[in-house]
Amino acid sequence: MADDFALKGEVIDQVSAVVDPLTGEGLLEAHILEKVDVAGGIASVVLKFKAEHTKEQRWALEDAVATAAEKVDGVKEARVTSFVEGYQASAAPAPEAAAAPAAAKGASQAPKALEGVGRVIAVASGKGGVGKSTVAVNLALALARLGFHVGLLDVDIYGPSVPTLLGINVRPAVREKRIIPVEAHGLKLMSLGFLMDDDAPVIWRGPIVTGIIRQFLQDVDWRGIDYLIVDMPPGTGDAQLSLAQTVPVDGAIIVTTPSDLALIDAARGLRMFTQLNVDVLGMVENMSYYLWPGAAEARNLAASLRAKGDEQSAAALDKIVSDEERTYIFGQGGGTREAARLGTTMLGEIPLDGAVRKMGDEGRPVVVGSPDSAVTKAFLELAQRVTDAKPLASPGSAPKPGLFSFKRS
Ligand code: ADP
Repeated sequence: MADDFALKGEVIDQVSAVVDPLTGEGLLEAHILEKVDVAGGIASVVLKFKAEHTKEQRWALEDAVATAAEKVDGVKEARVTSFVEGYQASAAPAPEAAAAPAAAKGASQAPKALEGVGRVIAVASGKGGVGKSTVAVNLALALARLGFHVGLLDVDIYGPSVPTLLGINVRPAVREKRIIPVEAHGLKLMSLGFLMDDDAPVIWRGPIVTGIIRQFLQDVDWRGIDYLIVDMPPGTGDAQLSLAQTVPVDGAIIVTTPSDLALIDAARGLRMFTQLNVDVLGMVENMSYYLWPGAAEARNLAASLRAKGDEQSAAALDKIVSDEERTYIFGQGGGTREAARLGTTMLGEIPLDGAVRKMGDEGRPVVVGSPDSAVTKAFLELAQRVTDAKPLASPGSAPKPGLFSFKRS
């Protein structure tokens, strides 16, 4: 096997020759090449970008660096990580309110920002079955579609559904004492479901939640993630507390359905985060209205009638579509009213659509399985609101996505 030390020299030579588009200089000269290591034939390269580098420039440079390093005879694999100069990982202050319950429970550690993670967003619900995991998964995918690097952590001990929803169930690898997240649909994933048998009794799960959350945050290699979405267990309890005690949580989203009971539960969930000093970004009303599946077809039909000169039928059909496309089975506006009453905002209304359940069961979430659908549009709008509420920015600069990057395969 080639000598790692000799390989390191060759990797540095190759990578230094890659040209920085901002300065026209090689990466070493331009002070972008931060670190190179070779161990067991695996080259690890760290790049330090300037805030002026665009996301596209960073990605192109990462790819060029990986290609250059892998050209060296004896290098089996190149792993490129990067960060932006001057960027602070998570800007949220330590939740003061968490300190009191932490002391009461004997926990001593203050929340500590995760290395290489931009924002941590918790997705929670007052009760189970409201579609919290569905929202978490599709929100993560929608953020990825907006160009961000996204991680999804599923700590819903009562029903870790991320493996099912994403159609993946593998044991994550461990490297250098850190758990390597599983990658699927462009997301980095970690779920209790990867480690736990489906038939493990629920009664055993409660007590492990605190340790699991801490371990899944601190021992998993999340570096390179812009947004880490955390799918919380339903209800209010230790999970929320231990999350807030482990990392500064940038924001929480409360998922609810329009039914009154769920709304009362949602209010409780919201209050819990407020008490922990976590910024509640708002509520998401899932299964908000029923979307008539034939609407698109009927609209096409109206267009073809209009093209044939039958304006009267086209107009009649258009009216039917606009009257019937959305059916608010549980009444309209309940979530928005409740959000306003609780002093928060409605971040999005997600329609009830059989395709969401079907695709979820098939391991193909709607955002990837039906990328142009109305439901996907609702998730993309939700993702946009989340990034607007918690943009990623290096101090003093305009919000930019993709502040951290990892090598894409
Ligand atoms: P939770 O995480 O709150 O327990 P899940 O995300 O597991 O809820 O969703 C519960 C069930 O509802 C699943 O079968 C899921 O496919 C279905 N579901 C969730 N959201 C929708 C939706 N908008 N339209 C149709 N079915 C949905």
